[in-house]
Amino acid sequence: MTTNRSILISGASIAGPALAFWLRRHGFDPVVVERAPAFRDGGHAIDLRGVSREVVARMGLMAEVRGASIGTRGMSFVDAGGRRRASMSADMLGGEGPVAEVEILRGDLARVLYDATRGDTEYVFGDSVAALADDGGGVEVTFESGSRRRFDLVAGADGIHSTTRALAFGAEERFSRHLGSYTSFFTIPYPERHERWDRYHTPLGGRVAAIRPTARPEEAKALFGFRSPPLNYDRRDVDQQKKILADRFAGVGWEVPRLLDAMWDAPDFYFDTVGQIRMERWSSGRTVLLGDAACCPSALTGLGTSLALVGAYVLAGELAAADGDHRAGFTAYEREMRQYATSAQARAGDGSTSFLFPTSNAHIWLRNTMMRTIPYMPWKKIVARRLQQADAITLKDYPS
Ligand SMILES: Cc1cc2nc3c(=O)[nH]c(=O)nc-3n(C[C@H](O)[C@H](O)[C@H](O)COP(=O)(O)OP(=O)(O)OC[C@H]3O[C@@H](n4cnc5c(N)ncnc54)[C@H](O)[C@@H]3O)c2cc1C
Repeated sequence: MTTNRSILISGASIAGPALAFWLRRHGFDPVVVERAPAFRDGGHAIDLRGVSREVVARMGLMAEVRGASIGTRGMSFVDAGGRRRASMSADMLGGEGPVAEVEILRGDLARVLYDATRGDTEYVFGDSVAALADDGGGVEVTFESGSRRRFDLVAGADGIHSTTRALAFGAEERFSRHLGSYTSFFTIPYPERHERWDRYHTPLGGRVAAIRPTARPEEAKALFGFRSPPLNYDRRDVDQQKKILADRFAGVGWEVPRLLDAMWDAPDFYFDTVGQIRMERWSSGRTVLLGDAACCPSALTGLGTSLALVGAYVLAGELAAADGDHRAGFTAYEREMRQYATSAQARAGDGSTSFLFPTSNAHIWLRNTMMRTIPYMPWKKIVARRLQQADAITLKDYPS
């Protein structure tokens, strides 16, 4: 590759390292900058669905991913006394149901991608882009540390609150869409060793609390969610966010009091809106976005990781196919990915909110009855086909 070889990638989670992987394969020179001071482990459990598994297979990393996967057997809804009211195994709906066949912690997947790239890709931790000056022939990047470097292109893989997007496209409010709920998760000690089932409890009031296994038997992830209009809080004030959660779930039964107790000491508390990023264009001049930064579909869809992995594959492939010409490459990337991203985002509206955040006993009864009866229903195949939306893109071959 002779044109536009040097590419700065902002963000070292899923989309960033995956893009670095494919860019190297095609002969580019990526550099990854990550705001965290060191590689970030941890995070929540994510499902690898449909075509994203094909991307991982093309990377030759499926054995590593399966080796680190959680092996979750399914999900159950339990009542306040902990009794199972409805369950769905992971293999029901062809491995594409609420629990997918391959479930892995975000950090463990990121680790596989990081290990596969760090030998031949420069990673800079503890820094962030602060200014981008695109002069038509390249991008002069100023970092928060004060250093400056010039790159041919810049790719923003820095998540739903992307700094790259803010610098190159404008304020987040222009593109973000709150979907009416918040989510939170954190790691808890789980000395009694859990079964490999996700357990969810949905008290009324549009709330959900869950305990989800990890690949480590002595720990679990606590997951919370609740319906709410946009809240006014400080994104850097973790204690304020913990207080919001504690207030919302005060008085709820099941294991919730124990989870809330553990929350105050959790090493990795996360709290955020359940939202989407919708943009008409994912590129501006020499800067391009991918993953959550470009088209976050929200946690409700279970497709954000797929969009990140597939987007990295397509972006690198189209740039290479255009011989490094960023105008042609970015246009082809958007054309290939647009429909896939739109259908993934549409999935957030298809009943997942009532499924997870019921507001009435009728909702709960309907959901539990549907889960109990679905294995015996002829329309099981229709539901499975709808969930196959994860495959709404046919991967091209991009010779490297
Ligand atoms: C509770 C929950 C459950 C989910 N479940 C699923 C699921 O089941 N299936 C699924 O497919 N997806 C799921 N997702 C979504 C999935 O986690 C994301 O879609 C995916 O991680 C997107 O990857 P990304 O690399 O684009 O962004 P992110 O994973 O958000 O990574 C962004 C990276 O950029 C870094 N960064 C941020 N700002 C800067 C900066 N200024 N400079 C440098 N670096 C920066 C961050 O530290 C981070 O490392 C879930 C999300 C949540 C919150």
